[in-house]
Amino acid sequence: MADIQDVIFLGAGASASEGAPVQKDLFREFFRPGGGYGRRTAGIARLAKFFQDFFGLDVRSDSPGVLFPSFEETLGVLEIAIDRGESFRGYSVASQAPDVQTLKEDLIFLIALVLNRTLMAPKGHHRDLVRRLADEGRLLSTAFISLNYDTLIDNALIGLHPDFDVDYGVEFTNYSRERDWKVPRQNRAVALYKLHGSLNWLYCPTCISLTLTPREHHKVAALIDHPVPCAQCGMPIVPIITPPSYLKGMKNYFLQQIMHRSADVLKSARRIVFCGYSFPAADLLIRYLLKRIELNYDPRPEIVVINSYEGKDGESKRREEKRYRRFFRNKDQVRYLDMSFSDFCNCDVD
Ligand SMILES: [Zn+2]
Repeated sequence: MADIQDVIFLGAGASASEGAPVQKDLFREFFRPGGGYGRRTAGIARLAKFFQDFFGLDVRSDSPGVLFPSFEETLGVLEIAIDRGESFRGYSVASQAPDVQTLKEDLIFLIALVLNRTLMAPKGHHRDLVRRLADEGRLLSTAFISLNYDTLIDNALIGLHPDFDVDYGVEFTNYSRERDWKVPRQNRAVALYKLHGSLNWLYCPTCISLTLTPREHHKVAALIDHPVPCAQCGMPIVPIITPPSYLKGMKNYFLQQIMHRSADVLKSARRIVFCGYSFPAADLLIRYLLKRIELNYDPRPEIVVINSYEGKDGESKRREEKRYRRFFRNKDQVRYLDMSFSDFCNCDVD
């Protein structure tokens, strides 16, 4: 891989700028009357009951007062139960009742459906960014670290530059198959590390392997339309995504490798650009990663934060800037700009 100059972090705000619902609105969008998600998933009734049982809410109510939990807290609660081998009343592993693992898969399917639909026609900021970096001859010296599950940046890279490869930092079973994904070539690959997993990475818990959804029309195929069995053992496989604040999820072998690869590119970076990332206090693993880089390696990179959007109020900007400044040791290296992700996609900072 070429020498990395810039590492660009893509947070939820980058996806939101393309039309993705923000975390707290994911469930509302899914259950929105007339939202068009219909009965496409057999899990919809199971999920409705789950929200009633766990959070006391009627998903069919269209009252704006209905409070949905966030996707992450919901998935987080289930993940911990699975990890500890525990369950909840009415959600036994032994009876006919739905078990926690099934609900987790339903939730992942739900987020895949919502992102798939809301991002069907993105505004194109990610493509603008890729186009600009390529024009400036900087695409191969830029690494992306994405905290999002969607495939916006993946599709921008593949669609605009089929001549380059995407290096996700892990091996996939279908690298060896005819007319499918190929092993990324050392000097033709753009690094894209997705710390929380991705909706096009399918994990086989049986043989512990990862398969990419097929490549078609110069983009990654949607999981929904292409349920694929494991290429090695034929068992069902599930998308690999993990809630950011749930550290145990990171024990997964593949996500560990991605962490290492991220540390590698961060070590040599001259500049780290945070896009649409609010730096929430709960993201401890990212803080740990950044602190190790800051203390253990030279040269210390410049930190640029690009988080503005229309209608963002002054108070949240001040709080956010403070979160960034208080964390980094070299305060004068931190630049908190009044710039939006779409501005940055079209024009680099001065
Ligand atoms: Zn398998």
